[in-house]
Amino acid sequence: MKAGIIGLGAMGVGMARNIAKAGFLTAVYNRTTAKAQAFAEELSVTVYDQIEALAAEVDVVLLCVSADSDVLAVVRAVAQTINPGSIVVDMSTVSSETAKVAAAILAEKQVEFIDAPVSGGVEGAKNGTLSMMVGGDLGALEKVRPILQTMSSQIIYMGSTGTGQATKAVNQVMCAGINQAVTEALAFAQAQDLPMEKVIGAVSGGAAGNWFLQYRGNTMTKDVFTPGFKLALHYKDLKICQAIANKVGIPMPLVTMTIADYERLMEAGYGDEDISALYRLKHKI
Ligand code: NAP
Repeated sequence: MKAGIIGLGAMGVGMARNIAKAGFLTAVYNRTTAKAQAFAEELSVTVYDQIEALAAEVDVVLLCVSADSDVLAVVRAVAQTINPGSIVVDMSTVSSETAKVAAAILAEKQVEFIDAPVSGGVEGAKNGTLSMMVGGDLGALEKVRPILQTMSSQIIYMGSTGTGQATKAVNQVMCAGINQAVTEALAFAQAQDLPMEKVIGAVSGGAAGNWFLQYRGNTMTKDVFTPGFKLALHYKDLKICQAIANKVGIPMPLVTMTIADYERLMEAGYGDEDISALYRLKHKI
């Protein structure tokens, strides 16, 4: 099975390295070609400067790009040249509707599409320990499973197209709550002049311990907000969650509050910082 990946951003680059290490990766594309060239030299894979050219050469196209419109633009380009019987795997976080539109575009070319968003951060992408939630045809998942296993410590099949993304939306609501809780609690500790590394160590080992505290606690409290996970991307996810909540008729005050906080931060120019930049709004100046 020959695999190609589109999108060598914070997540894509770690994913691509793990697929390459397992011997599946033959082709890469990145919109900013310089990034792809540096990567291809490191791993001896072919760089394509056109999505259409990459899609014609592989059996499996994987993508990890920013938002819904980006996924659809990539899928439309892939559909121009992809061979019937190939499989497209989208690991970006987008809406279930986008997954369904992508699947319909590719079905016309006799190509299966699976939505396979991930959780586990850039650390998970680098270490091959992502949690992957998959929607689409189970047979297609089984065919590409050996490739997906190079990136993931677990792959959970959720059901029909879009259910992977619906599950990822659940994850993103939880991340908003965790971000609110961790940034607020650490600002509370700092306002009491407690030794922050000790606080983070003590809390991490108990019932309130969590991934975000472990990986972002010591950086945010030193005012370091390098992504990680760009705040503007989580904002995009929470707008998807809010639209679902409106449709199914449940209140989500945590999501509403986090969207408002992120809007303040983005207006102040912090959209490309890690989501832990929420700490900026919490701590005492
Ligand atoms: P990122 O670092 O900003 O990278 C985005 C990638 O998408 C870049 O390679 C970018 O190309 C490419 N891209 C964007 N629009 C494109 C388009 N229209 N056509 C072709 N390529 C395009 O973002 P990331 O953190 O890797 O996130 C990627 C996806 O994974 C997002 O949907 C995000 O929500 C999701 N995700 C992120 C994390 C995380 O912790 N970072 C965790 C789980 C899921 P350029 O290099 O040219 O800009």
